[in-house]
Amino acid sequence: MKSIYALAAALVSSATLAEPATPEFSPERFRAHVQFLADDLLEGRDTGSRGYDVAARYVASQFEAYGLKPGGEGGSWYQPVTLQKTSPTADPGALTVLGPAGEKRFTHGDNALVVLSPGEPKQDLTAPLVFVGFGVEDKRLGLDDYRGLDVKGCIVVTLRGFPKGLPSEEGAHVSANKAKVAQSHGAIGMVSVATLQSEKVFPWEKVLEYANDPLYSWVGADGKAFEEAPAVRARGSLNGPAAEAVFAGAPRTLAGIRREADQQNGRPRGFKLKTRVRVEKTSTWSRVISPNVVAFLPGGDPKLGSEYVVLSAHLDHLGIKDVKNGGDNIHNGALDNAAGVATMLEVARVAASARTKARRSMIFIATTAEEQGLIGADYYARHPTVPIAQIVGNVDLDMPLLLYPFSDVIAFGADHSTIAKFVADSAAPMQIKLSPDPMPEEGVFTRSDHYQFVKQGVPAVYLATGMANGGEEHWGKFLSGVYHSPGDDMSQAIDWKAAARFSELNFRITRAMADSETPPLWFAGDYFGDEFAPKAPRAKH
Ligand SMILES: [Zn+2]
Repeated sequence: MKSIYALAAALVSSATLAEPATPEFSPERFRAHVQFLADDLLEGRDTGSRGYDVAARYVASQFEAYGLKPGGEGGSWYQPVTLQKTSPTADPGALTVLGPAGEKRFTHGDNALVVLSPGEPKQDLTAPLVFVGFGVEDKRLGLDDYRGLDVKGCIVVTLRGFPKGLPSEEGAHVSANKAKVAQSHGAIGMVSVATLQSEKVFPWEKVLEYANDPLYSWVGADGKAFEEAPAVRARGSLNGPAAEAVFAGAPRTLAGIRREADQQNGRPRGFKLKTRVRVEKTSTWSRVISPNVVAFLPGGDPKLGSEYVVLSAHLDHLGIKDVKNGGDNIHNGALDNAAGVATMLEVARVAASARTKARRSMIFIATTAEEQGLIGADYYARHPTVPIAQIVGNVDLDMPLLLYPFSDVIAFGADHSTIAKFVADSAAPMQIKLSPDPMPEEGVFTRSDHYQFVKQGVPAVYLATGMANGGEEHWGKFLSGVYHSPGDDMSQAIDWKAAARFSELNFRITRAMADSETPPLWFAGDYFGDEFAPKAPRAKH
């Protein structure tokens, strides 16, 4: 009998010492966060609004209740981000093409769009035009669209997008980098024309929908609105007759150029155009201050404790916008992204209450101004509250579609670093699969907050629920009807059990990254690792 007693005592003591097998993730807790953040009283959490600030207080209060440490500025939970809002005036602006066929003026919003300038409230400049193909340049990808062209003091005309056949994520990156390339060659402006491909993906009518949206930029210590390529002063897009007009008298027709660009690896070479363009645009500026909310959870390892794993989710959404239905106009953003913030809060709560500390430290961050162009995350990644070199990995949560019992997840960016292995290994015991990117052509990797960390050299993924077990149908319906509409609210049939499971998965991933002897690493030879973290250690593929 004695031996049985001893065995029983041993069992009891080991059970009290060990971590619970499944930490406490409840559907109700998750629902409570989303319920609050997506309430009509928060008025859609628009960047700079009172509703956003209330949401930020809520997140900070939760962090404090869990026992986390303030990770913002000056010992607070907040990192205030000063934002310049550049808005159109009553004068829409115009783009005038001058050349062999005379003078043709296109008003903004007709067949030309003139982008607002955060640097010059009243803009009026005229310059010669040079066609530069896609306008991309990258040694490793073998792209050199400016070869043999002098664009100093000129406005460059680019094809939208990137050459067919480039890997989509690299393509999306070089495409987003065009203004910087133009600047490095001395161009003072950049206007784009559609390819056959880009027209399909983003037709002109769609482009026009955003024509009068304000432009947000963060304001740096110098008091200026941040621009990646400030010397490229004028920006615009051309359609139909306006696009034809700039090619008047050119050695090649625009139609021929578009046909060539539509071929696999088709890369029309640039040439000097016979036309010039005058760009006129006025704008008004205002400033708002909107915070990122940041919390630390110190790690327990004497050495690895100075390294940080970041879990991020954007807190802002679209606010109150006029919609034609005359009814509900509050964009509550229940899934986009109250659900991502709720996931992060649940991970933070359980991580903070764990009986054994993780080895590395964790940072939880609710970002501002994501919907305005990933601006809060960019500000944080460029002004981190710990040295950026000590941030070893980032998982971003944006719009997890928690409408069905998901059985797989997608980690956008999985091909680039070992984070995917942390995701797959953490998901397997939960019978959740890691699936490949179902829409590589969309370049999603470059389109959410995690990308701002990537640009500072940090391996990162954006984790979303997958297409299996009803996912494909739900994603299709959501993206075509609900996404960025007032319908993304609590009236949706949100699967709170799936939400709790998603939180548990993210807890496991975050904890695994924090506990692993080796931090997440870029794969050897990876384009993004080589581009942004050339000196960091590498993992074999
Ligand atoms: Zn969104």
